[in-house]
Amino acid sequence: NNQTKVALITGSTSGIGLGVAERFAKNGFNVVINGFGKQDQINSIVQNLKQIGAKEVLYHSADMSKETEINDMFEKIKSQFERVDILVNNAGIQHVCPVDEFPSDKWEQIIKINLISNFHTIKRSVPYMKKNGWGRIVNIASAHGLIASPFKSAYVAAKHGVLGLTKTVALELAEKNITVNAICPGYVKTPLVMNQVADTARVRGISEEDVIKKVLLLNQATKKFVEVEEIAEAVSYLCSDNAASVTGTHLSLDGGWSAQ
Ligand code: NAD
Repeated sequence: NNQTKVALITGSTSGIGLGVAERFAKNGFNVVINGFGKQDQINSIVQNLKQIGAKEVLYHSADMSKETEINDMFEKIKSQFERVDILVNNAGIQHVCPVDEFPSDKWEQIIKINLISNFHTIKRSVPYMKKNGWGRIVNIASAHGLIASPFKSAYVAAKHGVLGLTKTVALELAEKNITVNAICPGYVKTPLVMNQVADTARVRGISEEDVIKKVLLLNQATKKFVEVEEIAEAVSYLCSDNAASVTGTHLSLDGGWSAQ
């Protein structure tokens, strides 16, 4: 069992991360999932991942804003698998607020979860990848890693940071058969997005329906949400052997948003 590759996906109890975890499960990997949720909800996710093909599934509740909990997750990974082959940094939160009203603790929390956690997980995964002479790191950034929108100062700063981290680590590992890339999705219909609709409506003084049409999908030229399955497919490609030369870059799945 030690030969089976281990894919660790942070923030994988919901949305994009869950879709990516399901993809690796279908491909027969050992899957490590992480994120918040009620115990019965977690149990059914673990059961489903096994049912669709995962070899072993480890769940760890590490809060990505806390280095000590990330450490503990890697201790569990060490004792169960002693390897990490694929790391998908996906955990992320959003908060929509004008900069002069933005709660400082919220701002720092977003930087910790959306950016600093990527450093902590990369730092602890790379030694395994170097030892095995193969590795894939995919950071789920955002179209907001490339361009900005008002009222999202913490998120946009963090996601721009993720792209800088991605490029730097890719250079460090380029000769080790380890690639490091980012994915920049536009709007995907997940709880993260749907939960910000009400806040955005309030900040901008418009209806929730108009937030979807006139704010979220305004620049998404396709006028459609991106599907979770599209992200999972892109992650799967970046983790394939045929993507060995794709490193230090990003893949945009944003319906033409960043073309403008
Ligand atoms: P989501 O809210 O559906 O899922 C987020 C996951 O992260 C959940 O499993 C949650 O439990 C977990 N999580 C949250 N805080 C955590 C913490 N402190 N520690 C550990 N886990 C934590 O969100 P999503 O839309 O699937 O977003 C996933 C990633 O994709 C995020 O990084 C987000 O910024 C990025 N993204 C999303 C969209 C979109 O439109 N949904 C677009 C671009 C980028």
